[in-house]
Amino acid sequence: MSKQYRVIPIFLPMLACPHRCVYCNQYVISGQQRLPDVEDVRNTVERNLSTIPSDFHKRIAFFGGSFTCLPSAIRDRYLDAVQPYVLSGQVEGIQISTRPDYVDESVLQSLKHKNVKLIELGAQSLDDEILKRCGRGHGVADVERASALVRRFGIALGLQMMVGLPGDTREKSMHTAKLISEFGACCTRIYPTLVVEGTALAEDFRKGRYLPLSLEEAVDWCKDLYRFFVKEGVAVLRLGLHPTEDLRNGGNLLAGPFHVSFKELVLTALWRDRISSQIAAEQREDITVVVPSQEINYAVGYASANRKRFPHVKFQQA
Ligand code: SF4
Repeated sequence: MSKQYRVIPIFLPMLACPHRCVYCNQYVISGQQRLPDVEDVRNTVERNLSTIPSDFHKRIAFFGGSFTCLPSAIRDRYLDAVQPYVLSGQVEGIQISTRPDYVDESVLQSLKHKNVKLIELGAQSLDDEILKRCGRGHGVADVERASALVRRFGIALGLQMMVGLPGDTREKSMHTAKLISEFGACCTRIYPTLVVEGTALAEDFRKGRYLPLSLEEAVDWCKDLYRFFVKEGVAVLRLGLHPTEDLRNGGNLLAGPFHVSFKELVLTALWRDRISSQIAAEQREDITVVVPSQEINYAVGYASANRKRFPHVKFQQA
């Protein structure tokens, strides 16, 4: 049986990033406002190592902000602080997330040298018009170029996307997913766009210039995207934002499809479709649905939604 995977997350707020995308307030998203110092980083790693079972694969991940936008001295300080954990074999490597236009050969050379095994690029959309409206400051060509470069250096590539950005449509989000696969990503994360205080999007929302997706729409779009990525062999590492304290309390969240169990809602909807198809194929309602054990909660559904919807269906673990 393959070993399970755990990531040790270290969040860097947007102080690392010189840009300001219309939807971004990284303090709200990551729940912190200052860059951690090296001691904070070591403490986070030690704390996680003490609780993750030793037989799990582990990787240290610098999330949030944009890692390669940091001055190289700070970047190196972080990477050097965690090298001992890699060199001793306690973790298998490091992963970072960054912007596609802050990746070049010399940066990649240095990251590879310091055991970075996976780079996740924030593509967000692969439609130039949407990227422009979001103030991303880069285009589709930058994502394509950076993706090719990361892969050329033998570093695994992840491409993150968002749904419901200004100008986005269901078709455009699927086009983005297709290009993510074409550009060679081994993994992705899908984030529905939220309207948070302190962003340009909040202003647009207040003035009626931007309307976020409803929760139902976001679940529906993401269901199709998830199905597509599974078919293409692109691992979906995350569906929906990590529910920080602030997002849970709704303090800075103005509008948008936030749900603490967003992934469960999407997978519930996927199973709902599968069950409906099986009922249609067998032309009866009292069918038995065979479910892999790790999927049983999704098949039964969030808050037993599918069990309630299909009262005659029997769920059987494979
Ligand atoms: S690139 Fe990322 S961190 Fe920087 S402003 Fe945009 S979303 Fe925020």
